[in-house]
Formats: sequence, C-alpha cells, structure tokens
Amino acid sequence: MPHLTFTYCPLCATALIEKEIHTIRRLFCPGCQYIHYPQPKLVALVVIEHEEKLLLLKRNIEPARGLWNFCGGYIELGETVQEAVIREAKEEANIDIQLDRLIGIYGGEEGSNVVAAFHAQLLSDQVSHLAVQPEEASELAFFAWEELPTLAFPVHYQILRDWKAIKL
Ligand SMILES: [Zn+2]
Repeated sequence: MPHLTFTYCPLCATALIEKEIHTIRRLFCPGCQYIHYPQPKLVALVVIEHEEKLLLLKRNIEPARGLWNFCGGYIELGETVQEAVIREAKEEANIDIQLDRLIGIYGGEEGSNVVAAFHAQLLSDQVSHLAVQPEEASELAFFAWEELPTLAFPVHYQILRDWKAIKL
C-alpha cells in the first residue's frame, strides 16, 4: 500500500510545505510545526498447519485478488502483534489458534509493510469451525507443501522457506 500523503496539515489544516528535517525532505506544517513521518505499517500473519497441510485463503480483495495468502492483517492500536494474528484467524477463518513460534520479521521495501510471521498448528477440534469470511476471501483450503497454489506476495514464499528451515 502506498504511503498516505497530505496536502493540508491533519492537525490545523494549514497548507503543508516540504522541508529537510533529519536529512530527509518531509512534509512540514508552518502553522503548528507538525512533521509528517511516513512509516511502514505492521502486518501480522500466521502459517497455519494441520496434518502437514497449510491453510490458505483465496483473496477476494485487491491487490492480488484470486491468489492465495495466509490469515493475517494490520495490527490495531492497543493490541499486541500476537493478539492481532489470533484475532485475524478468528475473523477470517472462524478458528481459535495458539501460536507456537515467530518465523521472522520481513520488510524494508519502499512503500511496503513490515510483516511479522508466526506459525500455528491447528488443533483437530477447530477444523469443523472453519468458515470463510466472504468480504476478504472467497475460499479457504488446505494444501500439501508440494501442491501449493500461487501465493499473493513474494514475501509469502520467503516465509515458507524460512519455516521449512526452522522445521527441519
Ligand atoms: Zn498544522
């Protein structure tokens, strides 16, 4: 997602100007001295496994509509990264999960998110609860490692490579 930009100060509505602050040209408000610091957004996702298969969601929203990805989403103010990913699994797939470990933290590209990727083993009693939330995904399915469909974002492949290396 591209960074938000502003024409007017979000605090006092004065027209913003560009000014070099801490070696970078930034949007600055001559009215109230507000400085706009663009920052990446934090996304948490979870690689959910059940009987050696991976749970994936088919995206029903752009970007990458129709491709598959993991449960996850943006972290809300006031929740921990772990709480966010547990909440997303409930919202997107109707399942309760327990995280077993962090796989890694990814990001750094211009305009990109920073992604915290976790792993969870889906307990058998949750399988019957699985239900798709159609606003964001059109389908939920388990895939064997050797039969994975096309994933939505390059970082997903990196996360799977890293998880494989940890798992071995
Ligand atoms: Zn201002």
